[in-house]
Amino acid sequence: MVPELVAPSVETVTARLAEIRERVVAAGSSPEAVQIIAVTKTFPIEFHRVAMQAGLMDLGENYAQELVAKDELLSEEQGRGELQPRWHFIGGLQRNKVKLLAGRIDLWHTVDRPALLTEIAKRDQGARILIQVNTTGEDQKSGCDPAQTKELVDVGREAGLEVLGLMTVGPTGGGDPRRSFEWLQELSVACEVPELSMGMTADYEQAVACGSTMIRVGSALFGPRNRPVAVDR
Ligand SMILES: *Cc1c(COP(=O)(O)O)cnc(C)c1O
Repeated sequence: MVPELVAPSVETVTARLAEIRERVVAAGSSPEAVQIIAVTKTFPIEFHRVAMQAGLMDLGENYAQELVAKDELLSEEQGRGELQPRWHFIGGLQRNKVKLLAGRIDLWHTVDRPALLTEIAKRDQGARILIQVNTTGEDQKSGCDPAQTKELVDVGREAGLEVLGLMTVGPTGGGDPRRSFEWLQELSVACEVPELSMGMTADYEQAVACGSTMIRVGSALFGPRNRPVAVDR
């Protein structure tokens, strides 16, 4: 059996957070201008408690069932004064999962087609959303065609959603992410939306240099998600 990952201490996460903030400043922005979303996907619930004790109240999850299970677990502890997160949904979104997630999500990052706009507007009226844009042209990647961005923003607004901004994921196999991030920044100006969710552990400094207002960071805070298993010799 693979042993469950052990959460880092609050002191460790606090120190890592301080380093990320320093790098945000070095990249030309400020901690007030860049929100840090702690990506807790696949980590056991203790990681969430540690993150919140370190002051990270915005947590990102990718899988609907996992988010719901974790939300229910933390909600049960609320009566005992335990901290409660603001959930950010950052994974590929299926229409049939919207109902399950509605009412729990503070910001939906991955809305990339009209059917999702309609479904969220129906199940979670006035929800706060971002439009995910595929700025790398990779076939397997979620996100709308950049040319459709404005239309989706408008459709979202007409449906009564609060469209706060745009989201993108940089190139998967590495490579220079700046083209992608600059493109998203230009689209946000054209669409007149303030928020830009871009940048992960590997590329948040470039994202911040291109105007990111929300970085989604997992491993830089919590360590690797898939720790290599030691091989006995
Ligand atoms: C997993 C994930 C992240 C965080 O990745 P790290 O490399 O651990 O920082 C950010 N955004 C999305 C969409 C993700 O799926």
